[in-house]
Amino acid sequence: MAYSTKEQGHLKSELDNIKKDGIFKEERIICAPQDSEIEVIFPSGTEEKNVINMCSNNYLGLSSHPEIVEAARKGLDHRGYGMSSVRFICGTQDIHKELEDKLTKFLGTEDTILFPSCMDANAGVFEAFMNEEDVMIADRLVHASIVDGMRLAKAMTDTYKHSNMDHLEKKLILHEDKRLKLIVTDGAFSMDGDLAKLDKIVELAEKYNALVFVDDSHSSGFIGKTGRGTHEHFDVVGKIDIITTTLGKALGGASGGCVSGRKEIVEMCRQKARPYLFSNSIAPVIVAASNKVIDIVSSSTERRDKLEVNTKFWRKGLIDAGFIIKDGETPIVPVMLFNAKLSQDFAKDLYSEGIYAIGFFFPVVAKGQARIRTQLSAAHDMTHLEKALAAFIKVGKKYDILNKTKEEIIGKYGN
Ligand SMILES: *Cc1c(COP(=O)(O)O)cnc(C)c1O
Repeated sequence: MAYSTKEQGHLKSELDNIKKDGIFKEERIICAPQDSEIEVIFPSGTEEKNVINMCSNNYLGLSSHPEIVEAARKGLDHRGYGMSSVRFICGTQDIHKELEDKLTKFLGTEDTILFPSCMDANAGVFEAFMNEEDVMIADRLVHASIVDGMRLAKAMTDTYKHSNMDHLEKKLILHEDKRLKLIVTDGAFSMDGDLAKLDKIVELAEKYNALVFVDDSHSSGFIGKTGRGTHEHFDVVGKIDIITTTLGKALGGASGGCVSGRKEIVEMCRQKARPYLFSNSIAPVIVAASNKVIDIVSSSTERRDKLEVNTKFWRKGLIDAGFIIKDGETPIVPVMLFNAKLSQDFAKDLYSEGIYAIGFFFPVVAKGQARIRTQLSAAHDMTHLEKALAAFIKVGKKYDILNKTKEEIIGKYGN
């Protein structure tokens, strides 16, 4: 056996180092459907606790919505459980094509291809249509799955400073002679909750003959007047060449992703994208439920509007209470604490108060930028948010960080 005490020792010491660095991730266990209120236990064996969930991507509250659950059940009855195949062999059902068409219409693009996840969409899309003659110019804060996807492609990679349009323009000039130039960005950035400046990005793309790629995972379903995404918000529908997004967040929260955009690019993905060709089809039950999700978000803005009301209430409540939050308008609301340990202690105290939120610190966010990231949902009612706000204020008072400047908080706790 090759896995002797020597090999085991190497890995054990690596794991010990992760623990020593304080970045060992312990997963909480939810003993209920995903929702605004959940039962949670820690693996270390604490008692089950009912908490208000402030850290899921269940933006529209569809994860456990009765209509979605019912649609999933029907999907199970009519199209079975598994596909046991990739799409191009015998893994494509009518409902897969239906979902691709619905997403195309919803996103306002030319065509759509499903992937097992958005991570897979991002892993496959760049390699599928770009080569050595091309360049990908990415915002420095793009999601890890985009970073990985770019690594897999043969095209040259460059970056621009986060949302810095002057820097992007310099890079576009620098790479003017390339065959294809692709600007790569998230639509909404998941850690700060800010939006990419898509209007400016499209302007630059037109000026320098570049294509635009947007990952709208944290926007699809709720950003923009009718929830189509950041392209709707910035009035550039039809001008984004590639949109990738996930079915694993606002759009039902199960799993699955897609590439949507120019039909030739989508076709290249169907022919060549490796996570599409070599990974199983999305299960019929998820596809059937996703079809229902798109029907719901296409026919009414009710849930998206409620989310907006909740987001405004929450942002205003935190600011009025004297917290420092990141500016913005998305339901991703980071409460800034700057110090890593403080972010962990704060989250623990919130949990004792029945509020489930997670403290993030380096390397997930920049050094000295530790925070509690809160996320709103249409599943939250005012009573949830009032209770959560009261808990934040109570814990904020305990640590004496209300109505303090960033410098005062860092002065007290370090960063
Ligand atoms: C969550 C997320 C993904 C991954 O989506 P999955 O479908 O869960 O793989 C990709 N990109 C961004 C920007 C995300 O936030």
